[in-house]
Amino acid sequence: MKLIFFVLLLIFSLQNVKAQFDGNTTPTYEELIEIYEKLDAENDEIELYQMGQADYGLPIYVCIINGAQDSIASFEKARNSTTLLINNAIHPGEPDGVNASLIWINNWIKKGKKTEKLPVIAIIPAYNVGGMMTRGSSSRANQEGPEQYGFRGNAKNLDLNRDFIKMDSKNMFAFAKIYHALDPDVFIDTHVSNGADYQYTISHIASVRERMAPDLGQLMHEELIPHLENCMAKNDFDLIPYVNQKGETPEEGIVVFNDLPRYAMGYASLMNAMSFTIETHMLKPFPQRVQATLHFLEGAISWMSLHQPEIELARKEALHWEENMEYYPFNFKASEKKDSILFKGYAFSHPISGLTGLKRLKYHRDQPYEKYIPYYNEYLAQDSTFIPDYYIVQSQCEDVIEKLDANNISMRRIEEKGTILLGRYKILRFESPKKPYEGHFLHSKIEKEISLIYKEFKPGDVIISTHQKNKRFIISVLEPDTPDSYFAWNSFDSYVQQKEYFSSYVFEDKALEILEKNENLRLEFEKKKANDTEFANSARAQLTFIYERSEFYEPSHNYLPVYSGMEE
Ligand SMILES: [Zn+2]
Repeated sequence: MKLIFFVLLLIFSLQNVKAQFDGNTTPTYEELIEIYEKLDAENDEIELYQMGQADYGLPIYVCIINGAQDSIASFEKARNSTTLLINNAIHPGEPDGVNASLIWINNWIKKGKKTEKLPVIAIIPAYNVGGMMTRGSSSRANQEGPEQYGFRGNAKNLDLNRDFIKMDSKNMFAFAKIYHALDPDVFIDTHVSNGADYQYTISHIASVRERMAPDLGQLMHEELIPHLENCMAKNDFDLIPYVNQKGETPEEGIVVFNDLPRYAMGYASLMNAMSFTIETHMLKPFPQRVQATLHFLEGAISWMSLHQPEIELARKEALHWEENMEYYPFNFKASEKKDSILFKGYAFSHPISGLTGLKRLKYHRDQPYEKYIPYYNEYLAQDSTFIPDYYIVQSQCEDVIEKLDANNISMRRIEEKGTILLGRYKILRFESPKKPYEGHFLHSKIEKEISLIYKEFKPGDVIISTHQKNKRFIISVLEPDTPDSYFAWNSFDSYVQQKEYFSSYVFEDKALEILEKNENLRLEFEKKKANDTEFANSARAQLTFIYERSEFYEPSHNYLPVYSGMEE
């Protein structure tokens, strides 16, 4: 009796959840996985796989539609054909994609599960499992529904959408496994936006075109995005680039978002996927946002169905483009060059606040406008670095080697020691914040110096060729001065700390001896003393100047355990 009751309750609750995909509720993690397990059990064309653990201790799944009904064969099919990867609930307070994906699957089943020309569709039902578990109704203070939803931080209170390079979460190791098993052509990360008020229900961030392979950039920006705009318009939704405001309101212009590799979409862009973050607007009701997300997914799928040969060709050409790249451009910044874009906004004013007695910003929804606003859509690289044939990472950097390995980077362990001419990296300058950001003191304004030395390497050190897939990923993490390098994310902090010092009262006499024996150094020292008052007034600074130029100063200070080399 108890069992029958339980089964009935389960059936009832499943139907109940099913009926509510397009209402104002979103499933819990347990409900969601139950739904996907049921879809997997009832449909040959739908497969569900556990791909690793989240920090919370529960699995992260990927659902594959139109695979090959076998895990190895399905991933192989995905890698070798046109594949879409949709990532949901990286921010579980923004669950629009969770519901939209379920509606898309239900509609597809209802329409007869057609697979002809359909790309392989992979869906991560819920990426931030820990955040899904912290459910409530108030953490998204400015958002219109759903009734209950998860929290942004994961079990370790990390924002997983900043974790794609530093990989502090187990979630990201699972994601890397999913990502490289599929090698998707198009990637969509689903979100809900904060920020200004305007008429649009949905906006998108696309891969920065200037960073993409030319043919792939053209395909995405001149064909895929216009197709998406048309599809959305047919369903009465306008699509606008993400409203990344230059000033207080959109009227001052919007700037294309810089999709750095720390973000899900930036990571996918770096791997030559046509990559999107979609952002529905927080002040639109949840069911409406879910519909907009659904139509975006439908648009992407319909375009991919129509253009598989072009997509495959452009992706292949992207690999050639990457292979031929001699310099890696980085530190991209939006230029001051303005384009304009038709924008549907709301008029605004600055009345006096009844609360603070100060001016406040108020949008007037009863005064919609449609006009051209400035659009800053040109990105320029501020720096570039020469690409070596290979890197050597010393064996003690286990965490770095583990991350490279998790990203499918092939490398070779050195078996016998030897000496070779290598580029050695010295960190000259960098800045760090006073407070941690996502568990790190992320360095910026990094300056490096590369010098050639004959370096002895040891068994266990690894050689990483840059003549392989995902070349730009390798460079962007190992060249220390790029904005999302492993150095920037603190993997090599111990190397920029001096380990030995001197006592001034002892070193005084030695310093004098050093100057007596080194005429050039003495002249350099005297010149600095004459020209630099602060230096002239600091005994410690003067002694440090001589110490750092003497044999007593440790030769390893500020040098990284990473080297670069050229094939002969
Ligand atoms: Zn988000």
